[in-house]
Amino acid sequence: MKKNDIIRLNIVSMTSDGDGVGRTDENIVVFVPNTAVGDVLDARILKVKKNIAYGKIESLITPSEDRITPDCAVCEKCGGCVYRHISYSAELGIKRQKVIDAVTRIGHLDASLVQEIIPSENIDAYRNKAQIPVSFDREGNPVMGFYARHSHRIVQELDCRLSPAVFNEIAKEFYSFFEKYPELIYTENNRSGIRHLYLRYAESSADVMVCVVAGRDDFPHSDELFDSLKEKYSQIKSIVINTNPNDTNVILGAKNRTVYGGEYLTDILCGKRFAISPLSFYQVNRSSAERLYQKARDYAALSGDEVLLDLYCGAGTIGLSMADDCRELIGVEIIEDAVENARSNALENGIHNARFICSDASKAALMLREEGVSPDVVIVDPPRKGLTPELIDTIVGMSPDRVVYVSCDPATLSRDLALFTAQNYSVKEITPVDMFPRTSSVESAAMISRKEGASYD
Ligand code: SAH
Repeated sequence: MKKNDIIRLNIVSMTSDGDGVGRTDENIVVFVPNTAVGDVLDARILKVKKNIAYGKIESLITPSEDRITPDCAVCEKCGGCVYRHISYSAELGIKRQKVIDAVTRIGHLDASLVQEIIPSENIDAYRNKAQIPVSFDREGNPVMGFYARHSHRIVQELDCRLSPAVFNEIAKEFYSFFEKYPELIYTENNRSGIRHLYLRYAESSADVMVCVVAGRDDFPHSDELFDSLKEKYSQIKSIVINTNPNDTNVILGAKNRTVYGGEYLTDILCGKRFAISPLSFYQVNRSSAERLYQKARDYAALSGDEVLLDLYCGAGTIGLSMADDCRELIGVEIIEDAVENARSNALENGIHNARFICSDASKAALMLREEGVSPDVVIVDPPRKGLTPELIDTIVGMSPDRVVYVSCDPATLSRDLALFTAQNYSVKEITPVDMFPRTSSVESAAMISRKEGASYD
């Protein structure tokens, strides 16, 4: 097989990234994006490695029954959606299978542990956060939209279906300013300019925070830009300039300057009010977050008497949503602003049995263990890379009755579940939750219990 060959394929499964998988008569696996299980197609081969190849659709011979007509002109180029061409029910099946594949292949656990997937209430306009890059295209025109898949090339698009309408309107307002004043855009030679537009939305009030990520905390025409935004969108309750002067792919810098309104947005989640600063993590799909937290709450099975340790707690949302059901809540989070949010969120909700530690989760867990703190239930909700083996050892050493593992990556979740399973804990249930419709990502909550009689006390 070589580049530019045309090969007939049946798409039989999907990769964890959302590419279709077909197999040739010579047993070469071919990955083809924008396909669906059941498609019969001719693929043009783009790249060949040993036993695998990458292709694109040359012609679709028989479309899969899962296919629908995509309602976005750029979905095949943009790195945001990968499942916009298939039905939502098919998408849910693929995501559940992704969790089953990871749990069985990486975690060596039984597929029957994986429950039905909890769907998202909304499949469009569900995102309460957008980070929209700004630059110039090759012709020197402003370009603003979303990154192409596996790339930092920006696909021009200001009408994202995953965003609430107000985000798209505000993005267009920015774009018209960039056309008028191209010097507003950050380049290697213009390091005061704007790099990203970062928008947040509090669904419960419809309030919007506009955070402009720029090389400096002041730039030309800012008064005109901000006055225009304030005048046109009364929903905007906060405008912040985040300074990021570094040569980095990390979007946000460390410093924020509030130029209008409040320093944070406030949203209601699980009946509690949460203030969220620009640097604090907040789940992007509010109604799915509520479903996920409900599942985490079921798995925590609190009776009112427990010490609950919430590791990677962000602004405190998961732990505080169940603080009324435990004796003491201890939250741990590495971002200072998020810890400050968590502390004031506790007070704002009349919660007095909570304390929060600003630290790396592994270090804090070790310190708590040395202090003799023995939580009955531990919740972990780490970033994609998951937990360290040391942290798992420390948690096991504290001998909690239950660990609730909330994860945005089934592969690292499964790796870590195997480590718990090797140490007197057993996995009782795993529930996938769809937090990110139309993308290949899937969230999960897992319940891990200490085996009867096993204790390290
Ligand atoms: N549980 C929260 C946040 C989950 S996101 C919620 O549901 O909203 C993961 C969080 O882990 C982020 O807030 C991130 O800042 C934090 N984090 C990342 N690395 C960390 C570390 N080493 N120690 C503690 N917290 C960390």
